[in-house]
This record gives sequence, structure tokens and C-alpha cells, in this order.
Amino acid sequence: MKHVIYLDNNATTPTAPEAINAMIPFMRWQFGNPSSYHIMGRLAATAVEQAREQVAGLLGCGPGEIVFTSGGTEADNAAICSALSADSERQGVVTSSVEHPAVIQTLNRFCPGNLAHRVGVDEYGHLDVSALDALLRRRSDIALLSVMAANNETGVLFQVEELAELAHEHGVLFHTDAVQAVGKIPFAVASTKIGLLSISSHKLHGPKGLGALYVSRRTRFHSMLVGGSQENRRRAGTENVAGIVGFGVAAEMARAALAQEQTDVANMRHQFEEAIFNAIPCVQINGDRNGRLPNTTNLRFSGVDGDRLLVELDAAGLCCSAGSACASGNSKPSHVLMAMGLSAEDAKRSLRFSFSRYNTPEEVQAAAEIVSHSINMLRRSARTAC
Ligand code: PLP
Repeated sequence: MKHVIYLDNNATTPTAPEAINAMIPFMRWQFGNPSSYHIMGRLAATAVEQAREQVAGLLGCGPGEIVFTSGGTEADNAAICSALSADSERQGVVTSSVEHPAVIQTLNRFCPGNLAHRVGVDEYGHLDVSALDALLRRRSDIALLSVMAANNETGVLFQVEELAELAHEHGVLFHTDAVQAVGKIPFAVASTKIGLLSISSHKLHGPKGLGALYVSRRTRFHSMLVGGSQENRRRAGTENVAGIVGFGVAAEMARAALAQEQTDVANMRHQFEEAIFNAIPCVQINGDRNGRLPNTTNLRFSGVDGDRLLVELDAAGLCCSAGSACASGNSKPSHVLMAMGLSAEDAKRSLRFSFSRYNTPEEVQAAAEIVSHSINMLRRSARTAC
């Protein structure tokens, strides 16, 4: 494979070698089922419990509040299904207009259309909290408020602790899809009113197909998957032991490196943005530049079609993304950018670049040069200055 520069870490991250090494024994000789009584089962169960403590350590909660899932998508599905199972009088759900499809489509499937409420965002990607407050005052049938902790496309952060307080005042359960935020910014959920929180292993250098749902000890939880009594009867099915072990190691590493990585990754993003701003005109940042994840930038390049740019960048060995990975190959403009008031054309002129601890300043410099060169070329061929 030719050398690539990987700036698509919000789609997925490279798996940490330490996580891979920790997983290997559980794919080879320590293959026991954690539910088995014998020594092989007990070894596997011990490893799962250690990983549960590592993931809990990253979130600042008790290990008993972690339910392992097959990823962020399942965690979101489980959170919403649980909330809708609690009280037949409360079947409404409120979300933001910029959620990930894992939340949007779950609501489309399980929540009647007239009971699914979307609260809008402003041009910076911030939630309209007064509209949310008014809605919660007006309706007594809301089971759940679900707002993401950080947007996957723009990196814009949501004040989830305050939103959880607001939900609590209205007697409404609060869930946050924190898939993009955990491992990139600190969390201490125990001291908040967050009832449910989704996380995903492959966004923080763990293996794919693993995630967790934090279920606060105060939250009444109704299992979506039924069968065996795994995960303390909260998620049936034999655990992916090797994956869980890798997830645990990745979570532990993210916790230990968090403060340093926030700075290092933000510095690389700054270097990238500055290099591009200095090299080419008519580039804008989509979203609040001061209230973003440290690793994400979403840039709008006037006069250039994002899909064509993506193809050029791919040919030059630079990986980045137009909108969320789940939507790639589908050239519809991003619902997130449109919700922020961008026209369909401007949304399609935008690309997301997302960094991680495995990027280097040299790569970032090279990436900025590739982007600037490709933009100049596309603008020249389209005969537009901007
Ligand atoms: N939620 C958000 C905000 C995401 O960015 C993603 C993945 O891109 C998901 C949920 C889904 O997570 P997973 O890929 O682990 O199912």
C-alpha cells in the first residue's frame, strides 16, 4: 500500500498496538466463555471485569455502570429503546437536529413521528436551548432528551452536563451520544445528571465492533437484547472477550494521555488550518472554532465541489471525509451543515479533517500542501478564483 496520510480519525482510528497485543491471547489460548464455571471461563470473566474498570475509569463512573455493546450504534439503540420501554404515558423523545444516524434512524424506527422532536442549532452549531426549554415545559409526555456530546462532522461541543440538569428539572431522562467526545475531552459522569451515555471503542484506538453504554445507577434500564444473563441481565449474548480486552486497554491509554493529547492534537489542527489559510483564499471553518473537539476541523472551500476534492485528495494519498463516514458514497449534502444554515452547495464544498495521536507535524504540513495544491488546481479548472 502506498503511504497515506490519515486525517479521518472521526471515522475510525488506528488500533493501538498495545490493545492488539492484549487481545491476542484471548483470540488464541485464553478462549474461554466468561459465563463458564471452570478455570477458562473464570480467566475470561476476570479479563472482562478488568476492562470494565478501565472503561469506567475513563468516564469517571463505577464499573457496574458499564454495559458492553457491539459499538456506539447499539449503545444508542439500547438507550432509546430502554427509555421508551419505561412508561407507556411518556413516549416522546427530544433530540438535536444534528445527531448521528444511529440516533436519528433509531427514533425513525421506534418513536412515532409526532412524538419525535428535533431542536435546531444556530450557525455555529450550538443548540437552541430556549426552544428546548420551552418544549420541555409544554410537553408532559417526554421520556428522553438525547443530545450528542460532540458533533461527528464539525466537532462542535454540546453542554451536556447543563442539558442533563435541565432534563432532570423536567423529570426527563438524559442520554448523550458521546461517541466522538470520550477519549478526546475529560468526562466525570458520576457527578452529573447524565442517565445514559454511549461510547465506541474504535474512535479511541480500540478495536471495531465494541462499545459501551454507561447506565447510571439511578437509571431504570430495560434491556433491548434478551437471552442469557450476561452484563448483569442488561445485554444478552456471549461477550466479545478479546475485543473488550482491547477496548479496556485503549480506554486506559486514553485516560492516561488525555491532557497531553488534547494539546498535541489541537496544535496539529492549528498548524493545519494556519497552513491552509496562508496558502489559499476563501476558506471558512464550519462551526464554533472555540467550542470544538481538539482534533476536528470542518472546512468550507468556496468554488470547489467537496466530492471532487475528496477524489483528488484520495489520489494524492490523503484520507479525509465529506460528512459522516456512514453517509459517504452518498453525495447528499450533510444534514448537520444544512441544519446550521449552509446552502446545499456550501455544504457540498465542505470537508472534515480529524487528527489523532498517531499523526505527526510533518504529515500535517504535507497534508496542508496537498489540500492547497488540489484546491488551486480545481479552482483553475473551474475558472473560479474562489
Ligand atoms: N455516534 C456518533 C456521533 C458517531 O460518530 C458514530 C460513528 O461514526 C456512531 C454513533 C456509531 O458508532 P459505531 O461505529 O461504534 O457503531
